[in-house]
Amino acid sequence: MIRVVIDVLFPLNYNCKFLNNNSTIFKLKKSILLIKKRKEYFMLTWKEVINFSVKGNPTPDKRVEKSEAEWQAQLTPEQFRITRQKGTERPHSGALCSIHDEGKYNCVCCDTPLFDSTIKFSSGTGWPSFTQPIKENAIKYERDTAFGMVRVEVMCNTCDGHLGHVFPDGPEPSGLRYCINSESMQLEKEISNDN
Ligand SMILES: [Zn+2]
Repeated sequence: MIRVVIDVLFPLNYNCKFLNNNSTIFKLKKSILLIKKRKEYFMLTWKEVINFSVKGNPTPDKRVEKSEAEWQAQLTPEQFRITRQKGTERPHSGALCSIHDEGKYNCVCCDTPLFDSTIKFSSGTGWPSFTQPIKENAIKYERDTAFGMVRVEVMCNTCDGHLGHVFPDGPEPSGLRYCINSESMQLEKEISNDN
């Protein structure tokens, strides 16, 4: 079952639920993205991600810097292990993996919005997955050669908190799959303005 809600008013908005047919959903998303005329419109591709990781990242709107002791005092042990020590949670263990409520996914360390529910999809990997960041400069990219693999690590561009990795095997049109630890984020649910 597929439910697509399209708000014809500016800004064009959409939400997909029950992602049993990803191909159809992302064809729809592609057409919606192409006619989206927002000032902040962007769509990152793998080429741009690699460029960021090699040549330098976009400048964030602000920076949050704290000592390891301050982060440890603020976060749970699991949040600290993942975000400040580049840990990974077990697949299917995260609370945000199967949630598709509308809202923003903010950094658990500094509360900066990173992703939103319109770009979340069911990847089947066991980690929350997104096709794009919420803003072009929300995420920091770094080449990661740990464990004998070459991957691109993604971090919060505001506080350098580790989030996960991005891969070029995501759905069209961007082809990106941001594979993110649940423990790195908190969901800020959207408050409906319907009266
Ligand atoms: Zn952060």
